[in-house]
Amino acid sequence: MNQTEAWFTELLHKQGITLTERQLQQFDLYYRLLVEWNEKMNLTGITEREAVYEKHFYDSVSLSFFLNLNETRRLADVGSGAGFPSIPIKICFPHLEVTMVDSLNKRLLFLKHVIEALGLEHMNCVHGRAEDIARMAEHRDRYDLVTARAVARLNILNELCLPFASIGGQFAAMKGADPASEVDEAKNSLTELKASVQAIHHLTLPYELSDRHIVIVKKTGATPKKYPRKAGLPAKQPIH
Ligand code: SAM
Repeated sequence: MNQTEAWFTELLHKQGITLTERQLQQFDLYYRLLVEWNEKMNLTGITEREAVYEKHFYDSVSLSFFLNLNETRRLADVGSGAGFPSIPIKICFPHLEVTMVDSLNKRLLFLKHVIEALGLEHMNCVHGRAEDIARMAEHRDRYDLVTARAVARLNILNELCLPFASIGGQFAAMKGADPASEVDEAKNSLTELKASVQAIHHLTLPYELSDRHIVIVKKTGATPKKYPRKAGLPAKQPIH
């Protein structure tokens, strides 16, 4: 085990996640594929092993420090890009059924390769805009948990992500150092979309020490039929 794997294993263990040899190998292979494919396509600005494990892997898994993922079955990751947060979460919680949605097909080609290489099961890659996918019966109101990291501001994300969640389900927005203004700006979108902020959790990355917040939104009623609006509109004219 190298130094990076040692601290990663120890920090996750402290959070109640005990990684097996196979899971550590899956993270290692994911790291190597990320760096290899990053030479052909833009997947990440971070390539040094230590930094990827901290800013991508640990940051992604941190969601499970605050939510009981053992009780979650269906997870949708909107704007999953190179697989964050869904792939690290899936490696740690293999029972999850995960759907990853992204509008960039070449990123999905990477994800499909990762899924195959790591031997991950019950993974579904969906190419398209969240606005369109969330209107399909097989995805609307169907997920216990919806995640999004680095995709858009919260008022836009609420419209893109909440339609995927079941009534009573949650949407976790992974945010940076100061989500207060976004949360404030998102108030009307929450009312419109029948949801409310349940909690805002704070964590600090272990070495780089930057602050992160996870905003947990609970869907309390069915998403009105008019949402999400036509692709592009949520970002162009956010609910305000
Ligand atoms: N979540 C990943 C992460 O944290 O590294 C990727 C973040 S990347 C900055 C944003 C991703 O969201 C891109 O891959 C982009 O294609 C996708 N995206 C943005 N808007 C979207 C939409 N409306 N529907 C689907 N995917 C979208």
